[in-house]
Amino acid sequence: MSESILAVTMNPSVDISYPLDTLKINKVNRVTEVTKTAGGKGLNVARVLHQLKTPVIASGILGGTIGHFIENKLDEAKIKHAFMPINQESRNCIAILHDDMQQTEILEKGPVLTQRDEDKFLIHFENSLADVSVVTISGSLPKGLSDNLYEKMIAIASTKEIPVILDSSGEPLRVSLVGKHKPFLIKPNQEEIAQLIEQPINDLAELQEILSQYSIFEGVEWVVVSLGADGALIKHNNDFFRLTLPKITVVNPVGSGDSTVAGLASAIASGSNAFEIMKTGMTTGMLNTMEKQTGFINKALFNEYYNQVEIIKLN
Ligand code: ADP
Repeated sequence: MSESILAVTMNPSVDISYPLDTLKINKVNRVTEVTKTAGGKGLNVARVLHQLKTPVIASGILGGTIGHFIENKLDEAKIKHAFMPINQESRNCIAILHDDMQQTEILEKGPVLTQRDEDKFLIHFENSLADVSVVTISGSLPKGLSDNLYEKMIAIASTKEIPVILDSSGEPLRVSLVGKHKPFLIKPNQEEIAQLIEQPINDLAELQEILSQYSIFEGVEWVVVSLGADGALIKHNNDFFRLTLPKITVVNPVGSGDSTVAGLASAIASGSNAFEIMKTGMTTGMLNTMEKQTGFINKALFNEYYNQVEIIKLN
């Protein structure tokens, strides 16, 4: 059996979209075109990996009828999954699209878990690592779990020499960066880096300076700071690279960071070189912005856009 990427989402959701001409407050609003999808950053990663034909298993925690809905959606898409079940409901996240492109969101916080759930999950996670070559961890943690859970997962993966790609923010990211075992790759955007160091970043020269000076980035092999349409600034060990992209027509940029993670993970798992890893991540991010559906890429366009990603090595 070929090795898979384990794509972890700890707080998945069913994302519900309610399009309305006008949102009437304190009145009944009837919707006709409801769409419900399995949501969560790691699920986007899993979907893009599946489209890239990279073997993937979606994992994390889910429960209740919402959990079943998510598993059914993954089954329909023929994406393997191995979530730890809990006896609470996973969450719904509702987006009301109304009044000329306005978006009002109602987000449930999801289940509240305990130390016992955390201990059980760590065993579940360790048992999921047979035949796994790369782990991706995306998004926030459900309430009740410790901020250092991702660090504990990184430690477990590192005993099996499995690299971990961590795409999170706030405390779970900070704690993982100061831990003994480092993630192999992190993919913050510029805002997440600014939040991490608690200081605004004015330009790319300053960003590069921060990545080379701050000790929290030491020992992380790849720091991929994605910059939306501006591509990325990437630190690979002690080298810096600036990735630039062609002009494209953006249809829906939601989930581009997750698609970038999928591209990076796929290239790392297949043993690609550093340039190929960077270019693949940029290409899958770009391709996602060109589609209406979140976590979706048109693979037929891959080579055309891959060839237009430019890499400049910085001093
Ligand atoms: P996040 O969604 O995590 O904030 P970004 O917005 O930086 O991440 O997007 C991730 C990647 O997706 C970028 O590095 C780039 O490859 C691609 N991307 C995002 N927005 C655009 C855009 N407007 N034009 C071209 N590529 C884009």
